[in-house]
Amino acid sequence: MNGPVRAGLALSCRRLTHAYRMGTDEDGAQAATLVALDDVSLEVAAGESVAVLGPSGSGKSTLMSILAGLLRPTSGRLLIGGDDVSAMSQRDLLRLRAHGVGVILQNPARNLLAYATVLDNIRFAQRGVRRPRRGQLPDPLSLLDRLGLADFAERRAGRLSGGEQQRLAVAIGLANAPGLVLADEPTSQLDAANREAVVALLGRATGEFGTTLVAVTHDPEVAAALGRTVHIVQGRLSEDPPRAGRPTGPLEDAP
Ligand code: ADP
Repeated sequence: MNGPVRAGLALSCRRLTHAYRMGTDEDGAQAATLVALDDVSLEVAAGESVAVLGPSGSGKSTLMSILAGLLRPTSGRLLIGGDDVSAMSQRDLLRLRAHGVGVILQNPARNLLAYATVLDNIRFAQRGVRRPRRGQLPDPLSLLDRLGLADFAERRAGRLSGGEQQRLAVAIGLANAPGLVLADEPTSQLDAANREAVVALLGRATGEFGTTLVAVTHDPEVAAALGRTVHIVQGRLSEDPPRAGRPTGPLEDAP
């Protein structure tokens, strides 16, 4: 793969709050809101890797959707690479996503085109990048080789196993040489061996390419492999682990 392709993008969340509207009452007035993110501030330096660890229902996916520009926060600001994402037009948001940010969704199959070949999936992920930066993109075959997927280059993505699809999802997330990679439970469907491989690959991306990485997970082993861990409980973010025995709400996963 080509050398360091792009400097990492710093990320700054400033007092982000998100409340979901829970429908309307009979008079059409807003009935209730559910505060999924509550005054979340987080600074991630360029090239840093951060795990967001928290139980089910704690607000991780809401945070990821905001970071990916898919959901606008109710209040607060989000800066990526110094640009104020919360103030961007839809068009600029799309451009940022196509050029600067790689997103690895939780379900690997949602990241890929099942009927296209593995190689074409990588090429498709690179299509939005324009001329001056095209030459800096990782070579698709070399990228697949790095992920142990070179032998599957001409296979349809939908025919890969779950673990292979998750690795391909990581390749797709890295294909446009993003300055920021956002990964939502990147190991949720993997056995131990594949989990280790994906964690190593994500670590390699930050180490070799200077990519900034934010991964949400409820897996402490994944968190341990990244540079720093922050904890989210009931929509509130903290650098400190929650105290043992502290109630975290009815939606918490069974241990
Ligand atoms: P996590 O990813 O940690 O499981 P989520 O961000 O999905 O947490 O959810 C945080 C809270 O917001 C939960 O109480 C969840 O039920 C609620 N929630 C998530 N998405 C929606 C939505 N679209 N509408 C209403 N409530 C939602």
